[in-house]
Amino acid sequence: MNEQKLSKRLTCVANYIPKGSRIADIGSDHAYLPCFAVLNGQASFAVAGEVASGPFESAKEQVKHSQLTAQIDVRFGDGLSVIEAEDAIDTIVIAGMGGMLIRAILEANPEKLETVERLILQPNIGAWQIRDWAMGHHFKLVSETILREDNKIYEILVLEKTSERIAYNEKERLLGPFLLLEKNEVFQAKWLHEKENWARIVNGIQHGQETEQNTEKITELTEKIRLVEEVLR
Ligand code: SAM
Repeated sequence: MNEQKLSKRLTCVANYIPKGSRIADIGSDHAYLPCFAVLNGQASFAVAGEVASGPFESAKEQVKHSQLTAQIDVRFGDGLSVIEAEDAIDTIVIAGMGGMLIRAILEANPEKLETVERLILQPNIGAWQIRDWAMGHHFKLVSETILREDNKIYEILVLEKTSERIAYNEKERLLGPFLLLEKNEVFQAKWLHEKENWARIVNGIQHGQETEQNTEKITELTEKIRLVEEVLR
């Protein structure tokens, strides 16, 4: 992978960047994504944010190497704090982290979302955290993709600002309203695997101590197994 040829996962993320956007790529690491987006005319300007010094240095090096220092500003800092009002960022990408961390990043600096129209989020796990966040923050899902690369399964969630009051039901929150409609082969493989995993956990707990916490966990996982079975049927 490099700035000209992204992984399948990041290519799919990049495809969701509207042409001519001003993007912030938070947790940019090598900065391949903003370099690719600018080189391909999808982004006219990018902020590449990094909180770790190794990836920050490598992002700076990559942007210099690609001769894109006029269009891409690499900034050191936590989450959305690297975005300034004058950047007029309209699209934020956060990819390759857990859903809980992505949600925490969005919640830490809500004022930075004022100029933002689109969020392209790629949680490695816990995508439901993002759907849950969207419900209370005037963002709605406009597209979702699930894909497999190198034997790993990734979900990509695209959200846009809305004045509507959004409510996803339990199935939509856990599995994704768009992914649920399609139920493609990758989706089925992911949820079959999750369901089997939950069943193993339930079985393990049932053989352990009977505590209030364990009973609650069994109820929670049994309900999730029921939801998934209903969908996969
Ligand atoms: N976005 C790239 C991708 O999808 O290939 C890199 C993903 S890498 C696994 C996650 C990166 O996010 C790391 O470089 C890490 O330092 C950075 N990161 C984690 N938490 C962050 C935060 N709160 N603010 C900015 N960057 C963060």
